[in-house]
Amino acid sequence: MKQVQGIQASEGIAIGKVKIYQGAQPVVEPQRVQDVRKELALYEFACREATLELERVYRQAMGEVGKQAAEIFEAQLILLQDASFDRYIREKIIGEQVSASYAVYSAGEHFGAILGAMPDETARARRMDMKDVAGRVVRMLEQRSQEETEQECYVIVSREMTPGAVMTLGKDKVLAYITQNGSYQSHAAILARSMEIPAVTGVDVSTLEDGMEVAVDGEQGVVYLQPDEATCKELLDRVEEQKRLEKARKALIGAQTVTLSGHKVGLYANIGSREEVQAVIDNGGEGIGLLRTEFLFLGRSQMPEEEEQYRTYRYIAEQMQGKKVVLRTLDIGGDKPASYLPMEQEENPALGYRGIRICLQHRELFLTQLRAVLRAAAYGQVAVMFPMITSVDEVRKAKECLKEAREQLQAAGVSYGQVQMGIMIETPAAVMLAEELAKEVDFFSIGTNDLTQYTLAADRQNPAVRQVYDTRHPAIMKMIEHVVAAAHKAGITVSICGELGGDVTVTEQFVHMGMDIFSVSPVKLLEIRERIRSIS
Ligand code: PEP
Ligand code: MG
Repeated sequence: MKQVQGIQASEGIAIGKVKIYQGAQPVVEPQRVQDVRKELALYEFACREATLELERVYRQAMGEVGKQAAEIFEAQLILLQDASFDRYIREKIIGEQVSASYAVYSAGEHFGAILGAMPDETARARRMDMKDVAGRVVRMLEQRSQEETEQECYVIVSREMTPGAVMTLGKDKVLAYITQNGSYQSHAAILARSMEIPAVTGVDVSTLEDGMEVAVDGEQGVVYLQPDEATCKELLDRVEEQKRLEKARKALIGAQTVTLSGHKVGLYANIGSREEVQAVIDNGGEGIGLLRTEFLFLGRSQMPEEEEQYRTYRYIAEQMQGKKVVLRTLDIGGDKPASYLPMEQEENPALGYRGIRICLQHRELFLTQLRAVLRAAAYGQVAVMFPMITSVDEVRKAKECLKEAREQLQAAGVSYGQVQMGIMIETPAAVMLAEELAKEVDFFSIGTNDLTQYTLAADRQNPAVRQVYDTRHPAIMKMIEHVVAAAHKAGITVSICGELGGDVTVTEQFVHMGMDIFSVSPVKLLEIRERIRSIS
């Protein structure tokens, strides 16, 4: 057995046979043609067919995996209808007298390479969309059916997966994905997570062959080649145990989050899309402690307008039926760049232009989001929270913007609701200033993911410093204790919304520190409730 450490792309465990996936990118060899007009007509026909198919996949994605995933195909439709893509193909057919298939294939490679060379991660991710679009048109030309894919269930292995291929292969026939190229932010990974298909990327796939037995551990980002019986058993036991615990915990859905001695603790959820609200409700969440609004802003070519944001926030507030929803304002930049906000390439993006720093400079963008939040607040219990705070001055400026947004709505006669206002404590500076900051806001929420990276000087994304990035490091625990005490001294509430809040090994410590609210991923809610109910 060989064990390969890759990068986690989608949680879950699967064991099965490898299927090397080649369907996504047919390679087309140059072919000279006599009848250029016929090739042009064929190209036009294939384009229309591809458009119809993409529209169908878009609707299917909307129904099965939600709006965010479906937008990928909306973006692909735009690429397909792009004038330079069309011009390139026509010029190639006419100028070089080549087949329509080859011209389309070349266009995919050409524009894919341009996108792939961009410094912006989101634009680079578009490269696969471009190739996906070209591949779809080529398949139409060559009448390759997308349904020709396997009937059996396999672990799909490919150098890279396009979102279209993930969507086309669907949920039923795929046990897991292993890819060489990709990232947690790639559209294919987003889709795999929405479809609950385990995936590991960053694996050298050259050693994998059709039919080879593998085990994929999406939680650890590990792939086992020809796993031995003991490993399979261990993994399957984990799956079984997981299922058994999940089932048993369902009994806690309506239960209180209270310790044995009667101390009540709030149990909220972190979400990053409107589709996840259902999971919060299904798992008995008492509110949403962190809505990462940037998911509305990423993977698209234009910023969402106020109306779209308002509708999304309102929908979430209404779904939660009066339970609290904390909307974190845009935290893009760093590892989450947005293509419509051009940024200089940075040496240290995590220490760079991100979060509140961008919002305070792009005032219109910030005010638009704040107006949408305030309007949605008329339909539920909405709070607003600012990320990446390092000074009292930043908080005051953000508050001024909130006031201005309110005044704008008032002047326009648009109705809005009251919002509580809080900040994330995720920089060491915010920890050190906790007492001063507490006087400015209604609540704190501790973001341990970033707090750990900034305190221990270890990039949260860099596997090479994974050992240093110790989420339970004594320095972090001390900081949390200090923040809780400072919040309570000022009479405000404090929650923990970093991943550490979902770590049951430290739940008791946090409860004893006086943590008011735990905000964790929806799948962790019942596990944490169970743990809190066992604490004396
Ligand atoms: C954090 O930093 O802990 C946090 C919750 O925010 P994000 O993971 O979105 O940076
Ligand atoms: Mg953070």
